[in-house]
Amino acid sequence: MHALDRAGLLTSFVNTTRKELADLTPPDLDDLAWDRLDYLGWRDPKRDRRAYVVLPADDGPVGVLLRQAEATARTRAQCSWCQDVRLPNDVVFYAAKRAGAAGRRGDTVGTLVCRDFQCSANVRVLPPLAYTGFDREAARDDRIVELQLRAAGFAAAVLGG
Ligand SMILES: [Zn+2]
Repeated sequence: MHALDRAGLLTSFVNTTRKELADLTPPDLDDLAWDRLDYLGWRDPKRDRRAYVVLPADDGPVGVLLRQAEATARTRAQCSWCQDVRLPNDVVFYAAKRAGAAGRRGDTVGTLVCRDFQCSANVRVLPPLAYTGFDREAARDDRIVELQLRAAGFAAAVLGG
């Protein structure tokens, strides 16, 4: 994804109150490998269960505040964004208030995502050789594209698309 500065990051949010935005602690943006990220996600270091994602979209990045659900899954869930089958990390249920009037009425969109937003790293791992002649690089490229599509789909759902 394209690099964002602090101002660009903060103006991307579509479902936050002024107070939530003022409370937001951004990650160290200079320290990120943007070319290896399909979206930006981080947990709030000061507020338990609060997290943020910034998802690239055609009309510019879409920032979304997420809340981790209280309940923990009994079995390990699969991330609905990277759909990594090797389960290298925890996956949790995050809910996002929808943008605009729908969100003010209490409408939310939920998704199961890697707890610390490891999706971009997960899809860049070369998959195992499924059969002789299996094109691992092409399979990896497909997974990257699929992750980008699913992230964009979540952004659209939050925006009410
Ligand atoms: Zn994931």
